[in-house]
Amino acid sequence: MIKIAETPVKKSRKFLGAAYFRSENTGYHLLPFRFMRLSEEKEILVNDLGEYLICPKGTAAQVIRKEVDPITQETLYADLLSGFFISETPIPPLLEVMATRYRTKKSFLDHFTSLHIFVITLRCEHTCHYCQVSRVSEDKNAFDMSRQHIDKGIALMMQSPNPHLTMEFQGGEALLAFDNIVYAVEQTKQQALLHEKRITYVICTNLAPVTETMLAYRKDNDILISTSLDGPEYVHNPNRHKKGKDSYQLALKGIQQCRETLGNDQVSALLTTSNLSLSYPLEIVDEYFQQGFSSIFLRPISPFGFAVRNEKKNKYDTGRFLEFYKTALDRIIQYNLDGHFYREDYATIILKKILTPFPVGYVDLQSPAGIINNVIVFNYDGKVYASDEARMLAEMKDDTFLLGHLDEHGYNEIFYGQKALSFTAASIYESLPGCSECAFQPYCGADPVFNHATQGDIYGYRPTSAFCQKNMEIIRHLFLLMESDKRIEKIFHSWVNS
Ligand code: SF4
Repeated sequence: MIKIAETPVKKSRKFLGAAYFRSENTGYHLLPFRFMRLSEEKEILVNDLGEYLICPKGTAAQVIRKEVDPITQETLYADLLSGFFISETPIPPLLEVMATRYRTKKSFLDHFTSLHIFVITLRCEHTCHYCQVSRVSEDKNAFDMSRQHIDKGIALMMQSPNPHLTMEFQGGEALLAFDNIVYAVEQTKQQALLHEKRITYVICTNLAPVTETMLAYRKDNDILISTSLDGPEYVHNPNRHKKGKDSYQLALKGIQQCRETLGNDQVSALLTTSNLSLSYPLEIVDEYFQQGFSSIFLRPISPFGFAVRNEKKNKYDTGRFLEFYKTALDRIIQYNLDGHFYREDYATIILKKILTPFPVGYVDLQSPAGIINNVIVFNYDGKVYASDEARMLAEMKDDTFLLGHLDEHGYNEIFYGQKALSFTAASIYESLPGCSECAFQPYCGADPVFNHATQGDIYGYRPTSAFCQKNMEIIRHLFLLMESDKRIEKIFHSWVNS
């Protein structure tokens, strides 16, 4: 007999006593998992290892009441056992395997900060209406990073315990300070030998100022290029304003030059979704495909700070972005069904968490959060920020995430100081209200910078959080797509394994 049948069940949200959960005559014990409704008919069970089980509505209650019969519900019972949702012994026989899988999921923490962003200059020849950091100026002294600060940034970077570092040059338009990039790369090469570090170099650029000399240097030093393409010309040019209105043509020319000199896989492009972009999901997806990209990252605009000061152009609610995202994703899937490989990058990051046991060190979707643990920003003026969004906030005179200054603070003060520690509790979704009981937790992340910027509180409030709304709906949508068509599940597997 199942003991819980005799226990009077109160209609209350209080936890029931231990006796309610104790297994005596039932054949199994519950392991920790969370669950939620996926659709009218389906619900999903997820545990901390990222294992999931999609089942008919009511299954979670049945599992919790220990009513799953190993004989008549053999498949469900086996799935629950193999997915570590239940155990036939109080201590699961594969506890060590579970521990290893959990450690693996969190192993992005093993080596601490990898991405070091050097804001090499704020100068730019574009005036994109969503950009908060560029300055149309010839004044190098005011807006370029000094050599002294470059040296100090490199010295701090070399103190990271991580043996594999990424050094990313950002602007403004980074190529306007190409001499500084060359200086920084040459200094880093020497230091990397001394400190036994492997360095990946990335330049974020709109490619407008690119020259043959720059391309040759990039080739010699294996520097990756990340550029911006917002879609077809009639979306890109209004978004990425430039005197002469030739931003689109210059971007395409630059991408072509990079591919010829460096190889196809050495240049990637990023999309920023403005209000205008929302009307063109299919055209944007088609544009990336026609320009020879095998992936696209459907990125919403950061809904805070300067980016949304121009409300008409850049402010939109998350629901509209989700509509845009789903329409675009459908188109991308159709390309795959037609026999092409074409990946959406945000979905791929989430799908890696869902479909593989491996860690995913994507800064915006991890717990503990990516700020400091994975990324640090050395600003052009020597100030050190916890993330790229943190320095964007600083441009709005909000220095909440300022960690220190290259002239005044050492490694420990910046990375382990009081300021850094003060963000810790808000960086862990396992303990954040709302997230702590959310089934999608292992596939999501914590983002105190976003919470602070949009809700004035680093912990955030999930019911009205745009971050939560976006991630919850995208994760739910990906599961439903996989459930609806096995061909889509196969396509998703090809994205995570590429
Ligand atoms: S942010 Fe939302 S979707 Fe993500 S774990 Fe928290 S409650 Fe779940």
